[in-house]
This record gives sequence, structure tokens and C-alpha cells, in this order.
Amino acid sequence: MIRSVIENQSPVMIDEEDRYDRLRLIQWWDQNRIRDAKVMVVGAGALGNEVLKNLALLGLGEIHIVDFDFVQTSNLSRSVLFREEHTGRSKAAVAAKMAGELNPDCTIFSHHADVTSDIGLGMVRDVDVVIGCLDNRAARLWVNRMCFKTGTPWVDGGIQEINGVAKVFCPPHGPCYECGMTENDYRLIALRYSCPLLKKEEIQQGRVPTAPTIASIIGGVQVQETLKLLHGLPVAEGAAIVFNGMNNSVYQTQYPLKKDCLSHEAYDDIVEIDFDIESSAQSLFDRLKQLNAFSEEEHLRLVLDRDFVTTVRCYGCDAAIEVHCTRSKVAADLAVCRECQQPMAVAMVHEVEEGTGNSQLSLATLGVPRYDIVKIESELERRYVLLRSSREDANSLNRHSFQRDNNGNGR
Ligand SMILES: [Zn+2]
Ligand SMILES: [Zn+2]
Repeated sequence: MIRSVIENQSPVMIDEEDRYDRLRLIQWWDQNRIRDAKVMVVGAGALGNEVLKNLALLGLGEIHIVDFDFVQTSNLSRSVLFREEHTGRSKAAVAAKMAGELNPDCTIFSHHADVTSDIGLGMVRDVDVVIGCLDNRAARLWVNRMCFKTGTPWVDGGIQEINGVAKVFCPPHGPCYECGMTENDYRLIALRYSCPLLKKEEIQQGRVPTAPTIASIIGGVQVQETLKLLHGLPVAEGAAIVFNGMNNSVYQTQYPLKKDCLSHEAYDDIVEIDFDIESSAQSLFDRLKQLNAFSEEEHLRLVLDRDFVTTVRCYGCDAAIEVHCTRSKVAADLAVCRECQQPMAVAMVHEVEEGTGNSQLSLATLGVPRYDIVKIESELERRYVLLRSSREDANSLNRHSFQRDNNGNGR
């Protein structure tokens, strides 16, 4: 049914059959922008559920959900998308399926993956906004650096008990998440990694007490700031919006821009090539020289974003074991020496030079995820290289991807 109402002398058509009718009545609203937008939601816990619910209701065109965790019974008190029968299943996959049921207009991809090890920078570069729904500083710092490298705005959220905070960052300008970090934040991140051989399941932070009510409030603020970003409206750039649920106070506090902050390295002039991460670093060097990205005489090195462990060595008896994998993939049983039960130390490298033994390792072994942007340096210059052929793989890698079929039904 279509009827018209008079508002400010101009008739506004109301179409009761249009799902987005009440949204379109908002003066600055542009439903087409929302339909054409791509957003990545990192974390599908209490906050992520609220954010995803809102994005689905709004008809946001393409949504990527990243989470490596599984649904537990204790999530059910704060997660609108999860049901009892979902326990034990991938949070990202379940959230994608359930958000897709809320609104089949959305194309939703789930990535059962760890954002710090499995998500390529190309994916972050391809979306309009990243929404962080994380529960620890280390992952936030990682997402912050990914977003500043690729120039992607991001909206962070955090909740505890009935209090919460939302933060908006707009690279390349203004302060970033790391600019606002204190000595204590760095100390807590270091603490998280003080035992480097613990696996991510074991270093997951303790259970933070949170209520579903604050998740709704902060998730709502995050999505509203995202909507403003998508419409080119002013946002709380470089600021924290703090909500104190006990006395109902809301205030906004601006972050300082830290001069020597390490997060502000922007990857510009990106070279795009077809290259598979199962190929070696040396073949990447060779290819870049063939393409004249570097001259034949230059000695190249691949700068690694992740700690690459070469050896694990015992503090006590000096026994050493060759490893060759990223720190997050080192087996947990290597934390203690088998000979003398002393703790083991790791030897790590952060770059791979042309012509060395490590250059024969595949990019995947060196910890480079699919569809990543890698940094290659010589003594003369530096190039950022997008490993493009993996794009399709990056999406098919979604072990639980959810998309509409031709009838608009989810599968
Ligand atoms: Zn910064
Ligand atoms: Zn030993």
C-alpha cells in the first residue's frame, strides 16, 4: 500500500511493502549506499552478535564475520543470534546463518579464522569499514595496524559489566587505537605473550563479566558510527565514546595523536600480482624482478608481519629443536624441555632474505595468509605487493560461507 504524507510541504511517499521504508524517511538516509557497502565484523561474541543483528536489519550489502571460537552455553545469555542447539559450532558460521535469516538481502561470509594470523590485508582493504568486537588488547592492536596499513576506517567496541566504550578511527588521519594506549596496556599485552609457547586457546583472556544490555548499547553506537562513515557524515574521529551504565553518564574523550606511534605506516602504491602463498619467498623475489618491480642487482628481503620461530632452545640443558613456523603455530608441548623439564626459549626472525635457506620456504609456512599485502625491501626501495590470485581462495576458505541462492534463500 502506498500513501503520501505532507511533511515540510513536500509529499513523502510511504510504501508499506518496502522493507526499508521507515529508514528511507530519515532525511540523510541513502539505502543504496548501505546495500552497496562492505563491512568486516571481527569477533562474534556478545558485541558482535548485536552489531551483526543491526547490520542485517539495515540490509547492509556484504558482511564478513571473523571469529575462531565456538558457541558455548555461557554465550546464550548475551548473544541474540545463538540457540541452544548451536553449542559446539563455529560462532562465525552460526552468526552468518542466523543474521542471513534476519535479512536475505545481505550476502554474509563467515571466516572461522584468527584475525591475527589468517586474514590477509587485501580483505581489509576491500571493505568500507571494520567493526571490532574483540575482548583483548592484542587483537585490537593488530586490527588497528591492519586498518592503518590499508586506509580502512574502523570502529572499536569494548564492554565490561554494564559499562562500555566505542572508538572511531579514520586512517590515514588522526589518532589511532595505539595512540591512546598507556604503559599499562602495553604491559598487559606483554603479559599475554610472556609465555610465548602458549596456544591462543590458552592465552584467551579470562571471562569478562558483561550484560547483554550494554552489548546492545555499545553495538548500537558502533553501527550508528558505521552508518555515518558510510554516508560521509562527521563521526567521533579519534575519540572514545564512553558509557557509564551505573550513573547513566555518556561522555566523549579525544585521543592525542602520538608522534612516534608505530601504527601509522600506510601501505600505498600497492603492486598487485597473481601469486600463490604455497610458492616460496624466493620465487616471489624472482617474479618481482621479472616484472621489473625491482632491478636484477637488488638484494631483496621479505619483511614478516608475524614472529617466525626457527628454533626452540632449552634454558637448562641447551637442547635445541628446529621448528620453522609462526609463533602461534608452535606446538604447546614444546614449552617445556623433554630432557630436563626446564622452560624452552624461542629464536625468531622477522625477515627473510633472498638466497637464504628460509627463502625456500613457502609464504604460507612463513605465516603469510591468503590475499595478503606483503612488504618487500631492497637497499634502495620498498614495495607493497598484493598477492591477488588468492582472492577467490580467500572467500572459498570460509569453511562455512553463507550466501543466498537464486531464490533468495539461505543455504
Ligand atoms: Zn597511532
Ligand atoms: Zn633441557
